[in-house]
Amino acid sequence: EKAHIVVVGGGSGGATTAKYIKQFSPDMRVTLIEPNATYYTCYGSNWVIGGFAGMDDIAQGYDTLRDEYGIEIIEDRVTAVDADARSVRLSGGDRVSYDKLVMSPGIDFRYDDMPGISESDAERIPHAWKAGSQTELLRSQLQDMPNGGVFVMVAPPNPFRCPPGPYERVSLVANYFKQEKPRSKIIILDPKDGFSKQGLFEEGWAEHYGDMIEWRAGSSGGRAEEIDVSNMTVLADSGFERVRADVLNFIPAQRAGQIAHDVGLTNDAGWVPVDQLTFKSEMDDNIYVLGDASVAGAMPKSGHSANNQGKIVAAAIVRELAGQEPINPSSANTCYSLVTPDYAVSVAAVYQYQDGAMAGVSGAGGVSPSGASTSFRRREAEYTRAWYNGITHDIWG
Ligand code: FAD
Repeated sequence: EKAHIVVVGGGSGGATTAKYIKQFSPDMRVTLIEPNATYYTCYGSNWVIGGFAGMDDIAQGYDTLRDEYGIEIIEDRVTAVDADARSVRLSGGDRVSYDKLVMSPGIDFRYDDMPGISESDAERIPHAWKAGSQTELLRSQLQDMPNGGVFVMVAPPNPFRCPPGPYERVSLVANYFKQEKPRSKIIILDPKDGFSKQGLFEEGWAEHYGDMIEWRAGSSGGRAEEIDVSNMTVLADSGFERVRADVLNFIPAQRAGQIAHDVGLTNDAGWVPVDQLTFKSEMDDNIYVLGDASVAGAMPKSGHSANNQGKIVAAAIVRELAGQEPINPSSANTCYSLVTPDYAVSVAAVYQYQDGAMAGVSGAGGVSPSGASTSFRRREAEYTRAWYNGITHDIWG
């Protein structure tokens, strides 16, 4: 009887794992369970919010994985896992049994950490930190905002999905305002005192947006204390300041996707500890967890990381079932961020398992140079789109 691998979540990590198990071992039976027929990538969603790409440009589907790779696709949500019986339960009540279970459920939000706001307010105050209807909602709010309005972003504390993501977003909102609503203003209220590629972002902002973007660090009044939803106001700086928004983008603190908590795989911090050589859960020998939900040492929570981890998990499972020891491959991350549609900055790093954790390989990687030429930044913007096409093809194509 063929081994049956069940993968929960058809995002960056899950879809990669399913595809690469089939690449490495075409005879294995692989089932991918994902509730949405269309997956909208978060990468590229800031382009939609900035108004120069459409939802179709960030839509991915499962036809190729089903038709060309022979992966069984179940369009449903997993509501429970019976680890002893090795089966998952679907929302309709059906059970699917597995030999190995892979989970890449992404993130959920910690609304409880912010007084005044709850998950149901996301219809009015979008997070847009999962792509889809939230992306469209934030875009339409920005379109409806009058010239001279204020866009306020409340940035999340570490660790969170896509460290440069909030700062790319404000850049591309500024690009839209500059063209359509030049009297408008952007305020970032940040609990942190620094952020990814900060010097490069600030250089790009000064060059393109003058003083349109104001970033407030956590220790200088940036820490949001409470959100007054009905007045669209953020109380910051221990309540001394009230910041009024025309459009408010509250990106909550984060934790592993809910199903990982329900199954009992998470630690006190809300993430899933794994053996970082194979991404096998520390709590269960037959469950692997990767992507944003996992604790992955120095690897950031990114689509690129999840994609690399998917290949590690696929190899680990195929080797384990063949009675072989795991290998220790190196993996990589790159995050490109657009500051304008024609100006991008990037960070890259290489990782390898060392002394019990994924660690950065010293001397490899780095960030874009500061003070680079216009043509250099333009080339990086072309690489941004090429990266998107390459990684989405590798995952779903
Ligand atoms: P996801 O891709 O979120 O996939 C999780 C999947 O699991 C979802 O499809 C969900 O429907 C499914 N799921 C959840 N629970 C269940 C359940 N119970 N049953 C069945 N299915 C379930 N990364 C980059 O590398 N480069 C970028 O430029 C970049 N830009 C970004 C910009 C923004 C604005 C944001 C928000 C993120 C960005 N990212 C980027 C980060 C990237 O999107 C995530 O890190 C990546 O998608 C994580 O993959 P994942 O598999 O862990 O989770």
